[in-house]
Amino acid sequence: MSLTFDREFDPPIGVAEQISPRIRRLVCGNPGPFTFRGTASFIVGSSDVAIIDPGPDDDAHLRALLAAVKGEKVSHILVTHTHLDHSPLAKRLKAATGAPILAYRPPAMVSDDTSEVRLDASIDRHFTPDIALRHGDVVAGKDWALEAVFTPGHMSNHMAYALNEEKALFCGDHVMAWATSVIAPPDGNMGQYFESLRLLLKRDDAIYHPAHGPSRPDPLPLVRAYLVHRQQREGAIIKRLEQGDRTIAEIVKANYADVDPRLHPAAALSTLAHLEHLIEKGRVIADGQPTLGSNYAIGSTP
Ligand SMILES: [Zn+2]
Repeated sequence: MSLTFDREFDPPIGVAEQISPRIRRLVCGNPGPFTFRGTASFIVGSSDVAIIDPGPDDDAHLRALLAAVKGEKVSHILVTHTHLDHSPLAKRLKAATGAPILAYRPPAMVSDDTSEVRLDASIDRHFTPDIALRHGDVVAGKDWALEAVFTPGHMSNHMAYALNEEKALFCGDHVMAWATSVIAPPDGNMGQYFESLRLLLKRDDAIYHPAHGPSRPDPLPLVRAYLVHRQQREGAIIKRLEQGDRTIAEIVKANYADVDPRLHPAAALSTLAHLEHLIEKGRVIADGQPTLGSNYAIGSTP
Protein backbone atom coordinates (compact mmCIF):
# COMPACT_ATOMS: atom_id res chain seq x y z
CA MET A 1 0.00 0.00 0.00
CA SER A 2 1.28 3.45 -0.84
CA LEU A 3 0.84 6.30 1.60
CA THR A 4 -2.52 7.93 0.96
CA PHE A 5 -3.96 10.54 3.25
CA ASP A 6 -7.49 10.95 4.53
CA ARG A 7 -8.34 14.63 4.79
CA GLU A 8 -12.11 14.14 4.90
CA PHE A 9 -12.46 15.36 8.44
CA ASP A 10 -14.77 18.11 9.55
CA PRO A 11 -15.37 17.64 13.28
CA PRO A 12 -17.44 20.03 15.38
CA ILE A 13 -15.10 22.44 17.20
CA GLY A 14 -15.52 22.79 20.95
CA VAL A 15 -18.27 20.15 21.21
CA ALA A 16 -17.64 16.62 22.46
CA GLU A 17 -18.61 13.98 19.94
CA GLN A 18 -19.23 10.35 20.97
CA ILE A 19 -17.09 8.35 18.51
CA SER A 20 -17.32 4.91 20.16
CA PRO A 21 -19.03 3.36 23.22
CA ARG A 22 -16.29 4.61 25.56
CA ILE A 23 -14.74 7.52 23.69
CA ARG A 24 -15.69 11.15 23.18
CA ARG A 25 -13.54 13.40 21.01
CA LEU A 26 -13.42 17.16 21.51
CA VAL A 27 -11.48 19.15 18.92
CA CYS A 28 -9.90 22.47 19.92
CA GLY A 29 -10.20 25.55 17.69
CA ASN A 30 -6.48 25.64 16.83
CA PRO A 31 -6.38 24.65 13.15
CA GLY A 32 -3.11 25.07 11.25
CA PRO A 33 -0.60 23.49 8.89
CA PHE A 34 0.65 21.18 11.68
CA THR A 35 -2.55 20.71 13.69
CA PHE A 36 -4.95 20.21 10.73
CA ARG A 37 -8.50 20.96 12.06
CA GLY A 38 -7.15 21.27 15.62
CA THR A 39 -5.90 19.16 18.50
CA ALA A 40 -8.27 16.40 19.60
CA SER A 41 -8.75 15.81 23.30
CA PHE A 42 -10.25 12.42 24.10
CA ILE A 43 -12.56 11.70 27.03
CA VAL A 44 -12.48 8.00 27.94
CA GLY A 45 -15.24 6.34 29.98
CA SER A 46 -18.43 7.71 31.44
CA SER A 47 -19.09 9.22 34.89
CA ASP A 48 -15.50 8.28 35.87
CA VAL A 49 -13.31 9.48 33.02
CA ALA A 50 -9.77 10.06 31.82
CA ILE A 51 -8.85 12.92 29.50
CA ILE A 52 -6.07 12.34 26.97
CA ASP A 53 -4.24 15.43 25.67
CA PRO A 54 -5.88 18.50 27.23
CA GLY A 55 -4.51 20.62 24.37
CA PRO A 56 -3.02 24.11 24.09
CA ASP A 57 -3.50 26.78 26.75
CA ASP A 58 -6.83 27.91 25.34
CA ASP A 59 -9.70 29.38 27.41
CA ALA A 60 -12.48 28.22 25.08
CA HIS A 61 -11.12 24.67 24.97
CA LEU A 62 -10.88 24.50 28.77
CA ARG A 63 -14.50 25.68 29.03
CA ALA A 64 -15.57 23.10 26.43
CA LEU A 65 -13.75 20.26 28.23
CA LEU A 66 -15.26 21.19 31.60
CA ALA A 67 -18.74 21.49 30.06
CA ALA A 68 -18.33 18.06 28.42
CA VAL A 69 -17.48 16.33 31.71
CA LYS A 70 -19.96 18.29 33.89
CA GLY A 71 -21.26 16.01 36.64
CA GLU A 72 -18.55 13.40 35.97
CA LYS A 73 -15.37 12.68 37.88
CA VAL A 74 -12.11 13.19 35.99
CA SER A 75 -9.69 10.68 37.52
CA HIS A 76 -6.64 11.02 35.22
CA ILE A 77 -5.17 13.55 32.79
CA LEU A 78 -2.93 11.73 30.32
CA VAL A 79 -0.54 13.47 27.94
CA THR A 80 0.90 11.84 24.79
CA HIS A 81 3.81 14.30 24.49
CA THR A 82 4.78 17.80 25.45
CA HIS A 83 4.35 19.83 22.30
CA LEU A 84 2.56 23.12 22.88
CA ASP A 85 -0.62 21.97 21.13
CA HIS A 86 -1.01 18.96 23.48
CA SER A 87 0.12 19.49 27.08
CA PRO A 88 -0.08 23.13 28.33
CA LEU A 89 -3.78 23.02 29.31
CA ALA A 90 -3.07 20.07 31.65
CA LYS A 91 -2.24 22.43 34.54
CA ARG A 92 -5.50 24.37 34.42
CA LEU A 93 -7.50 21.20 33.85
CA LYS A 94 -5.86 19.71 36.92
CA ALA A 95 -6.66 22.84 38.94
CA ALA A 96 -10.31 22.62 37.87
CA THR A 97 -10.77 18.85 38.35
CA GLY A 98 -8.16 17.78 40.92
CA ALA A 99 -7.04 14.94 38.63
CA PRO A 100 -3.32 14.09 38.48
CA ILE A 101 -1.29 14.54 35.29
CA LEU A 102 0.34 11.41 33.87
CA ALA A 103 2.96 11.26 31.09
CA TYR A 104 6.28 9.65 30.26
CA ARG A 105 8.37 12.52 31.59
CA PRO A 106 9.38 16.00 30.50
CA PRO A 107 11.66 16.05 27.45
CA ALA A 108 15.38 15.98 28.11
CA MET A 109 17.06 19.33 27.70
CA VAL A 110 19.42 18.85 24.80
CA SER A 111 22.74 20.63 24.89
CA ASP A 112 25.03 21.10 21.95
CA ASP A 113 28.82 20.98 22.13
CA THR A 114 29.01 24.55 23.45
CA SER A 115 26.88 23.44 26.41
CA GLU A 116 24.14 25.85 25.42
CA VAL A 117 20.63 24.54 25.76
CA ARG A 118 18.93 24.48 22.40
CA LEU A 119 15.36 25.57 22.93
CA ASP A 120 12.68 24.38 20.61
CA ALA A 121 9.82 26.87 20.35
CA SER A 122 7.23 24.12 19.94
CA ILE A 123 8.06 22.36 23.22
CA ASP A 124 6.18 22.95 26.49
CA ARG A 125 9.13 23.61 28.81
CA HIS A 126 6.91 24.09 31.88
CA PHE A 127 5.48 20.60 31.93
CA THR A 128 5.96 18.19 34.82
CA PRO A 129 3.77 15.12 35.27
CA ASP A 130 2.53 14.17 38.75
CA ILE A 131 3.01 10.54 37.84
CA ALA A 132 5.73 9.40 35.42
CA LEU A 133 4.55 6.50 33.28
CA ARG A 134 6.64 3.73 31.79
CA HIS A 135 5.95 1.40 28.90
CA GLY A 136 3.33 -1.16 29.94
CA ASP A 137 1.92 0.78 32.90
CA VAL A 138 -1.86 0.57 33.14
CA VAL A 139 -4.24 3.16 34.58
CA ALA A 140 -7.83 2.13 35.06
CA GLY A 141 -11.29 3.53 35.77
CA LYS A 142 -14.74 2.03 36.25
CA ASP A 143 -15.21 0.58 32.75
CA TRP A 144 -11.89 1.22 31.06
CA ALA A 145 -8.15 0.60 31.33
CA LEU A 146 -5.45 2.45 29.43
CA GLU A 147 -2.06 0.89 28.83
CA ALA A 148 0.97 3.10 28.15
CA VAL A 149 2.74 2.28 24.87
CA PHE A 150 6.08 4.09 24.68
CA THR A 151 6.56 5.40 21.15
CA PRO A 152 9.45 7.91 21.03
CA GLY A 153 10.51 9.51 17.76
CA HIS A 154 8.16 12.44 17.10
CA MET A 155 9.29 13.47 20.58
CA SER A 156 11.57 11.64 23.01
CA ASN A 157 8.71 11.42 25.53
CA HIS A 158 5.91 10.32 23.19
CA MET A 159 3.50 7.88 24.81
CA ALA A 160 0.53 6.26 23.08
CA TYR A 161 -2.33 4.79 25.13
CA ALA A 162 -4.15 1.56 24.34
CA LEU A 163 -7.79 1.14 25.34
CA ASN A 164 -7.85 -2.64 25.33
CA GLU A 165 -11.65 -2.87 25.76
CA GLU A 166 -11.99 -1.43 22.23
CA LYS A 167 -8.65 -2.58 20.77
CA ALA A 168 -8.10 1.14 20.19
CA LEU A 169 -4.86 3.09 20.33
CA PHE A 170 -4.65 6.80 21.08
CA CYS A 171 -1.53 7.32 19.03
CA GLY A 172 -0.99 11.07 19.52
CA ASP A 173 1.20 12.42 16.73
CA HIS A 174 3.04 9.14 16.11
CA VAL A 175 0.88 7.96 13.21
CA MET A 176 -1.80 10.15 11.71
CA ALA A 177 -4.14 9.47 8.81
CA TRP A 178 -4.07 13.01 7.37
CA ALA A 179 -0.31 13.69 7.11
CA THR A 180 3.08 12.31 8.09
CA SER A 181 4.43 12.97 11.56
CA VAL A 182 7.07 15.70 11.88
CA ILE A 183 10.39 14.38 13.22
CA ALA A 184 12.34 17.47 14.26
CA PRO A 185 15.72 17.32 16.05
CA PRO A 186 16.98 17.89 18.65
CA ASP A 187 14.12 16.19 20.47
CA GLY A 188 12.72 14.25 17.51
CA ASN A 189 14.75 11.20 16.54
CA MET A 190 14.39 9.23 13.32
CA GLY A 191 16.05 6.04 14.58
CA GLN A 192 13.60 5.93 17.51
CA TYR A 193 10.76 6.77 15.16
CA PHE A 194 11.50 3.77 12.92
CA GLU A 195 11.63 1.54 16.02
CA SER A 196 8.32 2.91 17.31
CA LEU A 197 6.66 2.22 13.94
CA ARG A 198 7.95 -1.36 14.06
CA LEU A 199 6.57 -1.68 17.60
CA LEU A 200 3.08 -0.89 16.30
CA LEU A 201 3.39 -3.63 13.67
CA LYS A 202 3.78 -6.16 16.50
CA ARG A 203 0.48 -5.06 18.05
CA ASP A 204 -3.02 -5.86 16.85
CA ASP A 205 -4.87 -2.61 17.46
CA ALA A 206 -8.10 -2.47 15.48
CA ILE A 207 -8.33 1.32 15.29
CA TYR A 208 -6.13 4.37 15.86
CA HIS A 209 -7.39 7.65 17.24
CA PRO A 210 -4.69 10.22 16.44
CA ALA A 211 -4.57 13.65 18.04
CA HIS A 212 -5.09 15.32 14.65
CA GLY A 213 -7.40 14.25 11.86
CA PRO A 214 -9.71 11.27 11.45
CA SER A 215 -9.55 7.92 13.20
CA ARG A 216 -8.18 5.01 11.19
CA PRO A 217 -9.69 1.52 11.39
CA ASP A 218 -7.46 -1.34 10.14
CA PRO A 219 -4.37 0.79 10.83
CA LEU A 220 -1.48 -1.60 10.18
CA PRO A 221 -1.35 -1.05 6.39
CA LEU A 222 -0.94 2.66 7.17
CA VAL A 223 1.96 1.92 9.54
CA ARG A 224 3.63 -0.21 6.86
CA ALA A 225 3.11 2.59 4.33
CA TYR A 226 4.70 5.02 6.79
CA LEU A 227 7.75 2.79 7.08
CA VAL A 228 8.06 2.53 3.30
CA HIS A 229 7.59 6.30 2.98
CA ARG A 230 10.43 7.00 5.45
CA GLN A 231 12.68 4.52 3.67
CA GLN A 232 11.90 6.31 0.39
CA ARG A 233 12.71 9.70 1.95
CA GLU A 234 15.98 8.24 3.16
CA GLY A 235 16.68 6.90 -0.35
CA ALA A 236 15.86 10.29 -1.88
CA ILE A 237 18.34 12.01 0.47
CA ILE A 238 21.08 9.52 -0.41
CA LYS A 239 20.35 10.11 -4.09
CA ARG A 240 20.74 13.90 -3.72
CA LEU A 241 24.05 13.43 -1.89
CA GLU A 242 25.23 11.07 -4.63
CA GLN A 243 24.32 13.75 -7.18
CA GLY A 244 26.44 16.31 -5.39
CA ASP A 245 24.12 18.13 -2.99
CA ARG A 246 25.94 18.99 0.22
CA THR A 247 23.50 21.04 2.30
CA ILE A 248 20.03 20.47 3.74
CA ALA A 249 18.79 23.57 1.89
CA GLU A 250 19.78 21.99 -1.46
CA ILE A 251 18.21 18.65 -0.55
CA VAL A 252 14.92 20.20 0.63
CA LYS A 253 14.68 22.35 -2.51
CA ALA A 254 14.89 19.24 -4.68
CA ASN A 255 12.96 16.74 -2.58
CA TYR A 256 10.09 18.93 -1.35
CA ALA A 257 9.42 20.97 -4.50
CA ASP A 258 5.74 19.92 -4.41
CA VAL A 259 5.19 20.66 -0.72
CA ASP A 260 3.56 23.77 0.80
CA PRO A 261 6.50 26.21 1.37
CA ARG A 262 5.15 26.91 4.89
CA LEU A 263 6.23 23.35 5.68
CA HIS A 264 9.78 23.70 4.29
CA PRO A 265 11.35 24.58 7.67
CA ALA A 266 9.78 21.37 9.05
CA ALA A 267 11.01 19.48 5.97
CA ALA A 268 14.53 20.77 6.69
CA LEU A 269 14.32 19.45 10.26
CA SER A 270 12.95 16.13 9.02
CA THR A 271 15.85 15.91 6.54
CA LEU A 272 18.26 16.64 9.40
CA ALA A 273 16.62 13.81 11.38
CA HIS A 274 17.14 11.43 8.46
CA LEU A 275 20.77 12.56 8.08
CA GLU A 276 21.43 12.01 11.81
CA HIS A 277 20.02 8.50 11.44
CA LEU A 278 22.12 7.84 8.30
CA ILE A 279 25.21 9.01 10.21
CA GLU A 280 24.33 6.60 13.07
CA LYS A 281 24.05 3.83 10.51
CA GLY A 282 27.45 4.74 8.99
CA ARG A 283 26.10 5.75 5.57
CA VAL A 284 26.72 9.52 5.70
CA ILE A 285 29.33 11.87 7.16
CA ALA A 286 29.03 15.51 8.25
CA ASP A 287 31.61 18.23 8.83
CA GLY A 288 31.31 18.21 12.61
CA GLN A 289 28.06 17.91 14.58
CA PRO A 290 25.09 17.44 12.23
CA THR A 291 23.11 20.71 12.16
CA LEU A 292 20.84 22.50 9.68
CA GLY A 293 23.89 24.34 8.36
CA SER A 294 26.35 21.44 8.11
CA ASN A 295 27.81 19.92 4.95
CA TYR A 296 27.04 16.28 4.29
CA ALA A 297 28.44 13.57 2.05
CA ILE A 298 28.14 9.86 1.42
CA GLY A 299 30.70 7.99 3.45
CA SER A 300 31.41 6.48 6.84
CA THR A 301 33.62 7.72 9.64
CA PRO A 302 36.70 5.48 9.98
ZN1 LIG B 1 3.48 16.88 18.37
